[in-house]
Amino acid sequence: MRTETFDTVILGAGAAGMMCAAHAASRGGPVLIIDHAKSPGEKIRISGGGRCNFTNLGTTARNFLSANPHFAKSALGRYTQQDFIALVERHGIAWHEKTLGQLFCDGSSKEIVAMLLAEMERAACELRLRTTLERVEHRDGAFKLTLGGDGAAKISCRNFVVACGGKSIPKMGATGLGYKIADQFGLALAETRPALVPLTFGEDVLAGFREIAGVASDARISSGKTAFDEALLFTHRGLSGPAILQISSYWRETYPIRIALLPTADIAALLIASKRENPRRAIATALGDILPKRLAAYFCEAQGWSGTMGEASDRRLTEIAGVLQGWEVFPAGSEGYRTAEVTLGGVDTGGLNSRTMETKTVPGLYFIGEVVDVTGWLGGYNFQWAWSSGWAAGQGIAERAQ
Ligand SMILES: Cc1cc2nc3c(=O)[nH]c(=O)nc-3n(C[C@H](O)[C@H](O)[C@H](O)COP(=O)(O)OP(=O)(O)OC[C@H]3O[C@@H](n4cnc5c(N)ncnc54)[C@H](O)[C@@H]3O)c2cc1C
Repeated sequence: MRTETFDTVILGAGAAGMMCAAHAASRGGPVLIIDHAKSPGEKIRISGGGRCNFTNLGTTARNFLSANPHFAKSALGRYTQQDFIALVERHGIAWHEKTLGQLFCDGSSKEIVAMLLAEMERAACELRLRTTLERVEHRDGAFKLTLGGDGAAKISCRNFVVACGGKSIPKMGATGLGYKIADQFGLALAETRPALVPLTFGEDVLAGFREIAGVASDARISSGKTAFDEALLFTHRGLSGPAILQISSYWRETYPIRIALLPTADIAALLIASKRENPRRAIATALGDILPKRLAAYFCEAQGWSGTMGEASDRRLTEIAGVLQGWEVFPAGSEGYRTAEVTLGGVDTGGLNSRTMETKTVPGLYFIGEVVDVTGWLGGYNFQWAWSSGWAAGQGIAERAQ
């Protein structure tokens, strides 16, 4: 088999890989991007309910988890959310802010995939799909790759970029190969675990949750010192909704999570006012005016809150409010990589140059996107990391070419 030569080969045509490809190819030598999937950018396509929450207006390094909380600052600061918004606008893609700085396409997430493909085409980057990496070695200052599948070939390249994501959603093509490559080249790994994922419960708790499956409420969910105010959703398997996905990245087995329902409301004051207005109403009915009715009924049953409002002292109503805003539950686990939006942990940032994402020990070897130990909150932060780290590696490759 003839050996083909490229300046750069990128493993993974996802968000980070495509961004890197466009920048490396426009300023460096020839670039090949490979993916074992039959289409590029599959996670972009399904993201944000098909509308792709492509960035967050408020992105800073504080919105990310990493063993080194400063690592992401350089890439995020040099290729910002405003830079990505400008790119989206140059391609005529209409967008809107949904909530909390989260930006979505007005139309479809496919527009973001098409935009990245257009950028890659403009930079004459070659894309090979249904192509696997069989082997990689570093010899005489170059990477020697053996590719299998539709794009089978022997390749020699000066730069090799690992952009194949984490372990989340294996059904969508996640393989975790990036961690094996990091290990092969002697890079340390931060322990990986599913994140932005629904939490599951033992049968004792679940039996109650099943009665209220589908009910949603505003809540503050906390674990340790971290708290998120967003929606909470009860499901047949446990708890989900944005607030739970957020806290799942911080929660650890055997620890509880704390739930404050309607965190900005003074529930005690509302209940006392309700009693003054109508003391003959049942507590369950009065509570049903404040909380979703099924949730109010669930609490009254579980806690044995019966009788009328008039029979409850102000102190008792304050205690009820305390239960609703100081609820502690012990998750048994999470739904795991099957449904996790991202993988926490990954390639230890200590081995990477934060400006270029190049490894400190193997010249020309780069890691970008989710495979790196930088994990964003829910809300467009993970894509912004993919864009910023992909761009930073593209710049690094261009600088290396000079
Ligand atoms: C359901 C869902 C919804 C999401 N919604 C959002 C959102 O709205 N906003 C947000 O910011 N983030 C969202 N995310 C997270 C976001 O998708 C990821 O953070 C982002 O895609 C990571 O980019 P990446 O390029 O590092 O990896 P990926 O986008 O996962 O790309 C990796 C690529 O590598 C390929 N690959 C993997 N292994 C191999 C292999 N062995 N050989 C060849 N190719 C391989 C894969 O096929 C894939 O194309 C969502 C995730 C999920 C699962």
